[in-house]
Amino acid sequence: MPNSSKSYWPSAPVANHTRGEIPVPRLINWLSVGALPVLVFFAFRAADRGDSLVMATLTIVGVLLLLNGLVYLILRQETLHRRTFIIIIAALFIYVATAALEDGSAIIWLFAYPPIIFYISTLRVGVLTCAFGLTALIGLFSPLGDRLFGTPYSDSFRLMMINVLAFEMISCYILDLSRRRSKASLLTLAGEYEYAAKHDTMTGLTNRREGLIRLEGEYQRYLRNGKPFSVILLDIDLFKGVNDNYGHQTGDKLIIKVADKLKDGCRRIDIVSRWGGEEFLAILPETGINEAMRIAERIRQTIAASPVTFDGQVIRATISAGVAGIHGVEPPSRLLQRADEALYTAKASGRNRVCSGEIPSQDTA
Ligand code: GH3
Ligand code: MG
Ligand code: MG
Repeated sequence: MPNSSKSYWPSAPVANHTRGEIPVPRLINWLSVGALPVLVFFAFRAADRGDSLVMATLTIVGVLLLLNGLVYLILRQETLHRRTFIIIIAALFIYVATAALEDGSAIIWLFAYPPIIFYISTLRVGVLTCAFGLTALIGLFSPLGDRLFGTPYSDSFRLMMINVLAFEMISCYILDLSRRRSKASLLTLAGEYEYAAKHDTMTGLTNRREGLIRLEGEYQRYLRNGKPFSVILLDIDLFKGVNDNYGHQTGDKLIIKVADKLKDGCRRIDIVSRWGGEEFLAILPETGINEAMRIAERIRQTIAASPVTFDGQVIRATISAGVAGIHGVEPPSRLLQRADEALYTAKASGRNRVCSGEIPSQDTA
């Protein structure tokens, strides 16, 4: 059974993140930077015409966008960054529409608003701000709006503008809704795949690959904080006989029962993996060898004392276990090897017993 040439380590790390779309803060900063030359261009045109109010307003908007980006880079406050951006561009669009800049043609910039707002905020905020924007535009184009702002838009332009903007808003809503739904189902799928990659379907325990990753994590923690941990390698005794006498399905049920008892016998912080067919590995964080031996012995006794019944057939299963505690800077592969050797000793000396892979006096727990 001891076999130092066994390949314990997974060949590649499991990816634990998915690639997403452009992050909102980055998009806002790109849009702000992209808006700057446009604002400067139209500010210069206004200055040329001697329209200092428009020039000053566009310059202030540019400076505010720049400041918002800088504040974000310092504070990293995403919500503040996003809300400030929304307020600045909403104010800019209101100004552009009511002041009828560039002979009234600048109002076309309103079409940039729906896709941006749906992307950078929630669907609800997108719907609410679009509904508010469209209502405000209808108000601007109404006789009351004319009295207040005296805009030069023609009737056909007003009708066209409202209809096309409403159409765009609805399209953006539908596209964004489907984008969000696709993203949610992709995330669910990714979660399911991640779970499947880390767990054993039959017992629900973590699989060998995940067990190794968790062991490496525990080892790194031990190197940092010096608190020793232990492992227990368990194997169902004479399991082949169960398969031969009762059938493979009954063998499966027995593996599940033993896995359940093993899980029950360990603490919540312990990591229990299905190591192979009828073999299991328990990693016990911050646990010395003596405590690990006690836990393993308790589990052995529980399993030995509770025969399982499948379809009226009583099976008295027992397990053997090898226990080893980490010490020094030995690699985890060496720790596993010692546990494996101890399990071999347990089997060789009669089964249904727990053997230690080291000297109990080294216990530090
Ligand atoms: P020992 O006490 O020395 O461990 O004897 P054993 O019979 O338990 O060990 P052995 O390695 O000879 O046999 C293990 C058997 O477990 C062989 C294999 O067919 C069976 N096995 C492995 N995985 C599964 C499984 O998922 N389901 C079932 N039913 N059997 C399995
Ligand atoms: Mg066995
Ligand atoms: Mg085995």
